[in-house]
Amino acid sequence: MSDLTKEIQYIKGVGPNRVKLLNNLNIFTLKDLITYYPRDYEDRSKPVKIEDLEDGKEALIAAIPVAKMNETRIRNRKMVIYKLIVEDETGRAILTWYNQSYLKNRFKVGEIYHFFGKVKKVQNRIEMLSPVFDEETKNKNTGKIIPIYPLTYNLSQNVLRGIIENAITLVNNKLPETLPKYILDDYKLLGANEAIKKIHFPENFEEFEKARKRLVFEELLGMQLALLNLKNAYESDNNGIQFSKDVKMSDVINTLPFKLTKAQLRVLEEIDKDMESDKNMNRLLQGDVGSGKTAVSIIASYKAVKCGYQVAIMAPTAILASQHLESFKEMLDKFGITCELLVSSITKKKKEEILERLRDGKIDILIGTHALLEENVIFNKLGLVVTDEQHRFGVKQRTTIVEKGQNPDVLVMTATPIPRTLALILYGDLDISIIDELPPNRKKIETYAVRKNMEERVNNFIRKQITEGRQAYIVCPLVEENEDMEGLQSVIELAERYQKETFSEYKVAYLHGKMKPKEKDEIMERFKNGEIQILIATTVIEVGVNVPNSSIMVVENAERFGLAQLHQLRGRVGRGEYQSYCILKYEGNSETIKQRMKVMCDTNDGFIISEKDLELRGSGDFFGTEQHGLPEFKIANLFEDIAVLKKVQRLALKIMEDDPLLEKEKNAKLNNLVKEKFSSRIEI
Ligand code: ADP
Ligand code: MG
Repeated sequence: MSDLTKEIQYIKGVGPNRVKLLNNLNIFTLKDLITYYPRDYEDRSKPVKIEDLEDGKEALIAAIPVAKMNETRIRNRKMVIYKLIVEDETGRAILTWYNQSYLKNRFKVGEIYHFFGKVKKVQNRIEMLSPVFDEETKNKNTGKIIPIYPLTYNLSQNVLRGIIENAITLVNNKLPETLPKYILDDYKLLGANEAIKKIHFPENFEEFEKARKRLVFEELLGMQLALLNLKNAYESDNNGIQFSKDVKMSDVINTLPFKLTKAQLRVLEEIDKDMESDKNMNRLLQGDVGSGKTAVSIIASYKAVKCGYQVAIMAPTAILASQHLESFKEMLDKFGITCELLVSSITKKKKEEILERLRDGKIDILIGTHALLEENVIFNKLGLVVTDEQHRFGVKQRTTIVEKGQNPDVLVMTATPIPRTLALILYGDLDISIIDELPPNRKKIETYAVRKNMEERVNNFIRKQITEGRQAYIVCPLVEENEDMEGLQSVIELAERYQKETFSEYKVAYLHGKMKPKEKDEIMERFKNGEIQILIATTVIEVGVNVPNSSIMVVENAERFGLAQLHQLRGRVGRGEYQSYCILKYEGNSETIKQRMKVMCDTNDGFIISEKDLELRGSGDFFGTEQHGLPEFKIANLFEDIAVLKKVQRLALKIMEDDPLLEKEKNAKLNNLVKEKFSSRIEI
């Protein structure tokens, strides 16, 4: 059996430099390497006739060089162009490479080679740029299905593929089986060895499908069992705090300047019941941005404090935490409740003072970021934990904060509306409450989908709004890790261009995820104060900022975002008294893109949008689930694999009913699977 924890430096083909590059991809061990799954595959197994080549597509040809390689030096530019003319029985093509001097004498006239590359067709001229190739009888770069991996800079597909090939050879037929035999049989799944080998190097697409099916099944089953395991653990425990029935939520509700919505009242009733029972509350509160979740959490916190307990509120960013602080103080100061903020940027002295008062029970509600998780944050009597998971904090972090109290009640808030069926599965460990109603008198955010050629009109509209005193956001996409630079470029470039030319009379600034937190906070602060009129940003602004004066959200290349994410972005405006607008600039003509844009223009309801998102998501235009605040998977795709997910959920429930602690011999492997989920770097 091979040691899967073996560090990658011991694998053939991995030197110190490549260790670093692989670490960037979160690959540290042999196991990480063999479970670094391809993001796509290229069929380089069947040659196409030259006359059938299509412009812009990648293809494989089997062809014969008709003359020696032609070499052209471009003067003043250190560039040499190599051209090779090849033919098959249907036509000729010109192959072009740049600066690859070793190719000069590589090909023999009259012999057959395989070439694979992107086709460029201009009238009758057919070209292929920098194709990879093999002798007819070799199958190194061609002749098979080739896996394509997500990459990082300076690491090529060929190199990574070679390394993974070595790793697979190393573990060949030696991987321990991770699923019980009865499950493999019942669901006709491939064994672990077969699956790992075939997911990287399938002989045909049928093999790939089988391998993927097995790995998706395993990944989702592990998640489901882990979640059910958590739920069991909470529920077996009847030592939850029983908050007093004598403390009435209505006492604070009656002081509010507004009337709670029906949905808020219903949800509060559910929470109140949980709090008063001796069962631990583990509740998910789902609701659109602005639906009044924070208000609900403030009311629950009031009850906890008046019953003699402390409350921890954990937010994903410092900006959000300080916004929460403001809202809490506004509603609770008058009751003599003390709220404090703990974020990493406060001074050491201030921090020490806060920690001391917290230990002494002089702070009732502590609001903060991950800083709350630190070991020296000690509560006197923590009774309620609220986590605001714009993007899922993850079970582990939640557990850390919960352990700072004695079975405190837990309320998890999320503004990512996901369809109820999906929520029930993904948050299988939690009870679910939904606020499906916005407070009355909210102005609908007017949404328009426009083409690039409308840019001038859009800009005039922005100008008009700014003249009236408003502010604008412009968001550019940042799609994949390896497109990072492109995304950043467009933010910085657009900001420069707009500042110099289009909007030179205003202050334009930019914001992106690679900036230091301090820089980001500073820009946000200046935007909030109105010193900046136009903020150009990547999706970093998606997370909860509140600038009521901003009334326009422009999204560039809106077709590249998931609907749920567009909805989140749109939620950044319309937070004040002003009519607000969302302008989606999009490209592309596909029906799906048009439909997606239409959904956004037609409705402001996050739940409807998330249902549509699920419906309209073809495998062709897949966006990472990461953008939805859902858990990340190595191979499963919630949108494509929903059927498997449902099947797996039924299986997991059946297994846990029969063997809640997974103690039976036949479930030993499942027990390991669950343990591994809890220890893995990837959150369930
Ligand atoms: P969320 O946390 O869901 O984004 P908040 O609780 O922050 O929403 O509410 C958004 C804004 O609406 C806040 O200014 C809040 O005071 C206000 N608000 C909350 N509930 C109501 C309501 N029922 N009627 C009117 N305004 C409300
Ligand atoms: Mg309770």
